[in-house]
Amino acid sequence: MSEFLTIIGATKRYGAVEAVKNVSLEIKRGEFYALLGPSGCGKTTLLRLVAGFERPDTGRIILNEQDITDLPPNQRKVNTIFQNYALFPHLSVWDNIAFGLKIAHLPKKEIEEEVEKMLQLIQMEDQAYKKPSQISGGQKQRVAIARALINKPQVLLLDEPLAALDLKLRQHMLMELDLIHDEVNITFVYVTHDQGEAMSLSDRIAVMNMGSIEQIGTPAEIYEAPKSSFVAAFIGDTNFFEGLLRKSIDEEYSLLDIEGFGDVICFNDKKIKTGDPIFLSVRPEKFRISRDMPGANEHINMLQGQVEDIIYLGAHTKYWVRVGEYRLEIFQQHSRFLLDEKPILWKDDVWISWSADDGYMLERYSEEDEDWMLLPPEEVGEDVDSLTDDDDEEAAEKDEES
Ligand code: ATP
Repeated sequence: MSEFLTIIGATKRYGAVEAVKNVSLEIKRGEFYALLGPSGCGKTTLLRLVAGFERPDTGRIILNEQDITDLPPNQRKVNTIFQNYALFPHLSVWDNIAFGLKIAHLPKKEIEEEVEKMLQLIQMEDQAYKKPSQISGGQKQRVAIARALINKPQVLLLDEPLAALDLKLRQHMLMELDLIHDEVNITFVYVTHDQGEAMSLSDRIAVMNMGSIEQIGTPAEIYEAPKSSFVAAFIGDTNFFEGLLRKSIDEEYSLLDIEGFGDVICFNDKKIKTGDPIFLSVRPEKFRISRDMPGANEHINMLQGQVEDIIYLGAHTKYWVRVGEYRLEIFQQHSRFLLDEKPILWKDDVWISWSADDGYMLERYSEEDEDWMLLPPEEVGEDVDSLTDDDDEEAAEKDEES
């Protein structure tokens, strides 16, 4: 896949607010590309720059080797799907889908053929003559997708397209979107604040924060190797520890001095220097929890703690374990038949271990920086958690109502 949509140094200000700050991106033809970040980070503004609803103060936008920065929206081969679907209420499903081709004065026969193809794609052949008020939220979303795709855009922009749907429908539509993308092979740029959506659909994700790109990578790269404490806290759950890089052991491993833990061994691919302050990030599923002391190994870290909380979730159990000042979050996958084992219970003394390869070292924020992205990660995490928890509660409420 070659670069197809390129954004070069785009900046957009609204008065004193710099919504998009010198953003550069290269999106490949046919890619499913997500712009992911918390509310207000500038992702919709970036999408609107590509659609042509806004003009960048500086920077250029290139689509298929053509500079489209100064083209009005209707002259760009780009279509946008909005959160609220924006269907015409007085037109049937069929007429909504046909709308773009009718405006373009295509021959009647061609319009009929294309609309039938789209109805097949979204599996709504039997709903063609209903009005938007007579179909479900998920079906409206599918009609909006068909209405956009029928114009054969080079890029389809999707602005939080599933946000108005309840949780179950959202999960279903995720699979549908994936299938539709595979079928039509058009470049999709998908804006969302939901990391689950971005991770499950995208070839690559650009994580945005305060108008800038923090990291670009595949879902696995972003999850396993976050480049900043912001990304580590925003994508999935993680445990953060504060410390210093005490010394390098060899080319690959370093000893960290984590407050309250003493020495911890960690893979060091960051070239952080001896004496530098660091955060150590360990994902909950990377820890092992056991009653007995695990087998010693020069690349295994071990701590002793006490279980404070347990939630059994069938496929895995979540534990919270007190180790000194820290409360560690641990997921244990039940890959073996659980009832054969003596379960770990509340208040049990346990061993926690993890491999040096499974911790991830991040440069620590500097005290002088006031940017939100550089706050200690627990604070970033709190902000992000409150955002996603609210959303999940809202979705669960809607789910119950339906
Ligand atoms: P959300 O997920 O809440 O939609 P977002 O990441 O898409 O957020 P934007 O809508 O791009 O963020 O907004 C980025 C910043 O620019 C915010 O501070 C917002 O208030 C500001 N902003 C966006 N549009 C305008 C506008 N038309 N006039 C003034 N400020 C704006």
